[in-house]
Amino acid sequence: MIGNGSEGMEEEREIDIFVTNKCNSNCIMCPMSEGSRRKNNPEHIEELKAYIRELPKDVEYINVTGGEPTLAGKDFLEIMHMLKEKFQHSGFQLLTNGRSAADNNFLNAMLKEMPDGIRYAIPLHCSREEVHDSITQVKGSFRQTVCGISNLLKHDAKVEIRIVVSSRNIDYLKDTAKFIVEYFPGVFCVNFVAMEMMGNAAKNREILWVDYAEVFKKAKTAIEILVTSGIDVQLYNFPLCAVEHDYWRLAAKSITEYKIRYMEACDECSVKPICGGFFVSTQKVMHPEVHPVKEVK
Ligand code: SF4
Repeated sequence: MIGNGSEGMEEEREIDIFVTNKCNSNCIMCPMSEGSRRKNNPEHIEELKAYIRELPKDVEYINVTGGEPTLAGKDFLEIMHMLKEKFQHSGFQLLTNGRSAADNNFLNAMLKEMPDGIRYAIPLHCSREEVHDSITQVKGSFRQTVCGISNLLKHDAKVEIRIVVSSRNIDYLKDTAKFIVEYFPGVFCVNFVAMEMMGNAAKNREILWVDYAEVFKKAKTAIEILVTSGIDVQLYNFPLCAVEHDYWRLAAKSITEYKIRYMEACDECSVKPICGGFFVSTQKVMHPEVHPVKEVK
């Protein structure tokens, strides 16, 4: 996979630049499987560069993703350089686990190649080191991610913290929100993310899955802590009927168009046009319960 372009090049508005499938974490709820992260295509970087050269200059938004994109090292820096030079009016987001930014040498090299205003979307699974590391399955990853976020904030980078909620971290959301307010008050926003049930997440579904409404209920206090401290919050991948009406304004239509599905009962729902629905994989694997909204009060 190179990018996500299913439409004609001239119609690209938002694209993914998939740098590498490799990752130095192995998160238990990763939508990629452990096996897929080991596959190697030696031609990939050259193919990706050719794809970037072919893209029109007016792409609106570019997501740089993986795996962990920074693991491509020099190739990652070259790709960022290409993107920065070519797309001077585009918005950018880098999806990273933040661990590479703990290394000051790499951080300095990376910052030189980053487009202005790029958003770093970094998952922090929990304020407790042992919980975070049990989710990434890598000892020491919490310390590196915390150090990476801290380093980026020192350079005035726009950092978004993502909390992917599962049974492993749901009971610590309040503590995690307090931790963020105390140590990272300069973050751009915090997003609570419902899982995409593919890869490792699907494999571990019996131990990880928590229904959306339960996730929202537990996230509510954490949301209030963040919002009252002046930190913006969004809910990613949540169906509206699992969220209290007063919080609908936080629920983003975050699932990529071609992956969105609804349950059959959603046809009776008056807010389907503004509801973000479900990942196709989650709909198939979890058969989530829905509560069609008859009337919005
Ligand atoms: S019933 Fe379906 S369309 Fe309506 S809010 Fe729930 S998930 Fe969304």
